[in-house]
Amino acid sequence: MNPIPMVDLELQYRQLENEINPAIADVLAGTRFILGPNVTEFEQEAADYLGVKHALGCASGTDALHLALRAAGIGPGDEVITTPFTFIATAEAIAYCGATPVFVDIDARTFNVDPEAARAAITDRTRALLPVHLFGQPADMAALQVLAEEHGLLLIEDCAQSFGAAIDGRQTGSFGLAGCFSFFPSKNLGCYGDGGLITTSDDQLFETLWTLRNHGRKAGDYYHEMVGYNSRLDEIQAAILRVKLARIDQFNEQRRRVAQAYGRLLGDTELVMPYEDGIGRHVYHQFTMLVPEQRREALMQALRDESIASAVYYPTPLHQQPAFADLGVHDGLPVSEEVSKRCLSLPVFPEMTDEQIERVSDCLKRAL
Ligand SMILES: *Cc1c(COP(=O)(O)O)cnc(C)c1O
Repeated sequence: MNPIPMVDLELQYRQLENEINPAIADVLAGTRFILGPNVTEFEQEAADYLGVKHALGCASGTDALHLALRAAGIGPGDEVITTPFTFIATAEAIAYCGATPVFVDIDARTFNVDPEAARAAITDRTRALLPVHLFGQPADMAALQVLAEEHGLLLIEDCAQSFGAAIDGRQTGSFGLAGCFSFFPSKNLGCYGDGGLITTSDDQLFETLWTLRNHGRKAGDYYHEMVGYNSRLDEIQAAILRVKLARIDQFNEQRRRVAQAYGRLLGDTELVMPYEDGIGRHVYHQFTMLVPEQRREALMQALRDESIASAVYYPTPLHQQPAFADLGVHDGLPVSEEVSKRCLSLPVFPEMTDEQIERVSDCLKRAL
């Protein structure tokens, strides 16, 4: 039987190669490899799509988070409230600034940060809230915006998994002071290497970000306002992203179609399907269910036996990672701890066929 991967990047490339190959060839022939015309065009197209004033390419999603926090003035002694149920880069970026990540528990249904838990964790050192729109599901931005306003906190969004996700038609990445996107190949909008993007509608923050990403340079000459970074979106990657950005709505719609089909086929089993609150548009970067803890390994094995991929995002919440052991918060976030033991993600990608979806669902039903 043909394997079913978590995401089929080769198939997508085959469908787009007639546009992507010439776009890459143009960059090679034009030789403007660093901050060339494709980066500028892509930044404008992304800003228009996301409904923000500015979008700035950078080297990765991790850098997008780091630069946004730095530009917002986060530094030593500051606390940034975030979720422990995410990829480690969210919290690494806080640590890079010398600030302290403060992990608070998540909502058991959406897997996103619980605004009430965030409220309870605010101290006089808290400077910012850093929610993640996990798996493509928008976080509760209405509640988080109220919290940020009441306590004078900055709000910065980790949109690495949520390109195209929206709340009432408003895109993630347009709610906070800044939104941080990743173009890691498997993300909803992915390039063919590393890449990232920071959005903001704040002119001053944009200027600082623009300077920070390119060695602290202000204008074209060798005059450096501050010690910055080499963190630029690659011109070849920008050319690829322009081809894919034109199709992002279609890709996300197809991901939603896959999720709905899984819901129809698996909804009446003991598997807990992803929750949709009906307000946010979930773009299913991952299709993540809750399964009985004791059955997870057996279910994964049953899928593996039929050449079907599955994955655990994420098996260890960040407060239990050795990397953050010095924070001294090893337990006490029960929802995150339980969800990490029960979560299981199934293949989901735009090109997935009905037959593939049925094969995955049938296999799980038999294993149950
Ligand atoms: C992928 C990801 C990142 C990091 O992005 P990179 O481009 O790999 O550096 C950050 N946060 C979350 C939630 C992610 O999924």
